[in-house]
Amino acid sequence: MSNCDSCASKDGCNNKENCKLEDNKMKPKYGEIKNIIGVISGKGGVGKSTVTGILAIELKKAGYKVGVLDGDITGPSMPRFFGINEKRAEMIPLSKTDVKFTPVETKMGIKVISMNLLTKVEEEPVIWRGPVINGALNQIYEDTEWGELDYLLIDMPPGTGDVALTVMQNLPVKSMIVVSTPQDMVSMIVKKIVIMIGKMNLSILGVVENMSYIRCGNCNEKIRVFSKKSAEEQAKYLGIPLIKEMPIDLNLTESLEAGKVEEYIGSTTQYEDILNKIKFEL
Ligand code: ADP
Repeated sequence: MSNCDSCASKDGCNNKENCKLEDNKMKPKYGEIKNIIGVISGKGGVGKSTVTGILAIELKKAGYKVGVLDGDITGPSMPRFFGINEKRAEMIPLSKTDVKFTPVETKMGIKVISMNLLTKVEEEPVIWRGPVINGALNQIYEDTEWGELDYLLIDMPPGTGDVALTVMQNLPVKSMIVVSTPQDMVSMIVKKIVIMIGKMNLSILGVVENMSYIRCGNCNEKIRVFSKKSAEEQAKYLGIPLIKEMPIDLNLTESLEAGKVEEYIGSTTQYEDILNKIKFEL
């Protein structure tokens, strides 16, 4: 059934072109996903995967069914984030041409799929050209047994190139969250992403400014390490709302190294406000 067939206002609908575009987007074969959110940044190392992971845990804490698609095929990091890098996703052959992937569930029950869960060992590199990577990403999204999900978060491929374009064009992404750090050079590159998302007619929820400050252990003062400009100023430059300022958090780093990030985020309330702008009607 097409979106227009199921749409209550189809008689008075003046948006049939959009419905058609939505209809052409890929749907997962083994599950129903209510909302797909992309987490994106133009630059590596700013904390895109960290924000994706924190968001997934906070959504799970709030009672939603959550999945994570690691869209970074050549530099995947979500399995390490959740401490599930020793596990393997199952690849179940259904016919000569069809296969189904079973995501790995974290301790909290977040369903994660990543190229690093599909290779024999996590160190195995993926040495493919763009079109092959695109095909792999589409297939992983389509052929994973997601079951019913309220939210699928996509840790978006880096840059404004081929792979990011594929996700934006082919997958029914509801909205994007942009991740930046308080450095002019980073904001300039992140702005390219914001413009790209606009050109693709996708919506942006806002920007998470990561590594905004450290908190002084003695006086509790916020010290902005990278820039004197405020997070609001950076968001204004990007032309999108500020979702959250995230500090450099040593407890987070330690819990990541120990594979215990879910326990840590589960025990603190400091990241919960990241959900403020992203709860859609389900
Ligand atoms: P990206 O996905 O943008 O490449 P990552 O999320 O992998 O970046 O983060 C890069 C590194 O920085 C990781 O080792 C991560 O643990 C660390 N990191 C990210 N954000 C923070 C933070 N707010 N506090 C402490 N460490 C962080």
